[in-house]
Amino acid sequence: MQLLTKDSNAKIKKTNKLTQAIYEFYNLTLTSRIITKKDGSTFDPCPNANLFGCREDCLRESGRGIFSNVRDARTKKLELFVNDQATFMKMLSNECLKIVKNRVIKLKKKVRIRLNTISDIDYLSILCVRDGITYKNIFMAYPELNFYDYTKIASRFGKKLPSNYHLTMSDSREPKAQKQIDYALKRGGNVATVFFVKKGEPLPTIHRGRKVIDGDIDDNRIEDDKNIVVGLRLKGNEAIKNIDRSNFVYTQAI
Ligand code: SF4
Repeated sequence: MQLLTKDSNAKIKKTNKLTQAIYEFYNLTLTSRIITKKDGSTFDPCPNANLFGCREDCLRESGRGIFSNVRDARTKKLELFVNDQATFMKMLSNECLKIVKNRVIKLKKKVRIRLNTISDIDYLSILCVRDGITYKNIFMAYPELNFYDYTKIASRFGKKLPSNYHLTMSDSREPKAQKQIDYALKRGGNVATVFFVKKGEPLPTIHRGRKVIDGDIDDNRIEDDKNIVVGLRLKGNEAIKNIDRSNFVYTQAI
């Protein structure tokens, strides 16, 4: 089982194509479904999904997620994570080590890894072993790599993040989520907002009092300016059909 992939996600593939002279992007895709562990307890890979009201509208079944074999493979990875975290982290660490040796050192590539593509797991608090040494987390174990995520857990913006880990807060129209979003914004976080804007049409210029940048161009969030909104256009026929009940799509800027 391979955990990290390079071009399996359309946006990451596009980003790789655009930035290939300098960067290489990899990602890890699990699933946002709550799963039952071997011991009978449950694990929620997205602890704030209910607060943000996003689980139903999650993109887990769009893109390659329309294929059942792809969804099964993602679920298997999450099952390994919850039932045997040590093995999961060992595999992830080995894959990172290979990338450092073969891509960073040999080819001088700047590598960026998104660990939460369809999940919101706190990798900051999971130990990682590299060459027999245990580090506080994977970010500290691999300073040669840069990591980034989108999250709905504002408390992560209250922590001192490792310098090679970048977070963008996810927006929501859900009233119960506003405190979380405000908390992240006050601590210098950017926010990613989905607008009901068609492909090729312009995004609003200002949202939440901040400049909106076009986040559809690529997934290179690490280079984003501070205090901005990462604007995204709503994609997928299913999502457009369900626009009325969606909590995370803005029909107009606020
Ligand atoms: S937090 Fe993100 S990945 Fe999780 S259910 Fe919500 S939209 Fe999906």
